[in-house]
Amino acid sequence: MADPGGILPSVVIGAGQAGLSASYHLQRLGIEHLVLDADDAPGGAWRHRWDALTMRDVHGVAELPGSAPPPRDGERANTAIPRYFAEYEREHKLPVERPVRVLRVLPAASRDDAGADAAAAPLRIETSAGTRFARTLVNATGTWTRPFIPHYPGAETFRGEQFHTVDYPGPEHFRGSRTLIVGGGASAVQFLGALAPITDTIWVTRREPVWRTDEFTSEAGIEAVAMVERRVAEGLPPQSVVSVTGLFLREQEREAERLGAYAARRPMFERIEERGVRWADGSFEPVDAILWATGFRPAIGHLAPLGLRSAAGGIQLDRAGRGTTAVADPRIQLVGYGPSASTIGANRAGRAAASGVRRFLRGAGDGAAGAGARDAETSEPSAA
Ligand code: FAD
Repeated sequence: MADPGGILPSVVIGAGQAGLSASYHLQRLGIEHLVLDADDAPGGAWRHRWDALTMRDVHGVAELPGSAPPPRDGERANTAIPRYFAEYEREHKLPVERPVRVLRVLPAASRDDAGADAAAAPLRIETSAGTRFARTLVNATGTWTRPFIPHYPGAETFRGEQFHTVDYPGPEHFRGSRTLIVGGGASAVQFLGALAPITDTIWVTRREPVWRTDEFTSEAGIEAVAMVERRVAEGLPPQSVVSVTGLFLREQEREAERLGAYAARRPMFERIEERGVRWADGSFEPVDAILWATGFRPAIGHLAPLGLRSAAGGIQLDRAGRGTTAVADPRIQLVGYGPSASTIGANRAGRAAASGVRRFLRGAGDGAAGAGARDAETSEPSAA
């Protein structure tokens, strides 16, 4: 274990797909680091996905560098992927410490460090298990811990049940309950697919859903990622890549489609009342439960003292949004953020982040990533 009082060349926060990929590549480059993860056990957000989500239901999990993911069978994703991650950590001896929650990251280790060369000073990382110091940071904290529910007047008066994707209890819980599903993304489509065959559902979305009738090609995927890159390049808050790829129905959703669950979609209501929701035209629908499939925000509150956010509200990344280095502070890499917020994107970003760390350390004259370190950008085939 690294000396808790010393200054590490790098610290990775989060041990999901993005953090493990970054750690793997840092290790290949010979850069000493620690991975601090808030969870009790391996698996990242996948540990917390609902029991009814099987490997057959997930949209696809990219492989961690050099290691095939679990098969697309009937096993629960919340056991198969954590086991895959645990084996990966063990096999590659990745230096993960858990449970350690990072509470905040400060720009300089102490006041004295924040002189003329503040950007080269060590970062102070305050955690639930004490303070660490590092020259660089790779943030890989995902979004799962920051569910987003939009505010609608009257929400607190509702007498029924409300859930977000994070606490979805599985379809059986809703049997016999008239359920309103809110959201225009892949999760809402999946929930309707599971609930419409067993209970009465109503679907509401803010915008008209965009259905993809053609095959989802790699060109379409590249264009979707490019759109999020453009936002990040401008320092805007990133949008979910999945939200711009268009929606499609899989075999699991055909029964709900036959029942008309997707065709009967309505625009957003205006307010929530004790027993249901009301639209601007005065119409009312009684409901027993509301399921908010309204997405997530990046879990980056602990980075606030670094002042990375642009005036536009997001964190601007280098290389026109295709890189992982924060423009405001080259010590910081963000992976699993914006365009890299998918398992395949997270893998690529992990590699780019390790290169970014090495670039910074070399520039700062740190011996940790010396001339003997191999080049992750040139010595390994693309994770794609
Ligand atoms: P996570 O897996 O969320 O890992 C983040 C880690 O950081 C966690 O272990 C957490 O404990 C830790 N952490 C967070 N905050 C702190 C802190 N302050 N201190 C220390 N540790 C911290 N993508 C796909 O490619 N295919 C799919 O099929 C797919 N399905 C999805 C289904 C749902 C419902 C959702 C919400 C997303 C899905 N995605 C999918 C997106 C995909 O899950 C993510 O892009 C990817 O898994 C995220 O990996 P990550 O490493 O960025 O974050």
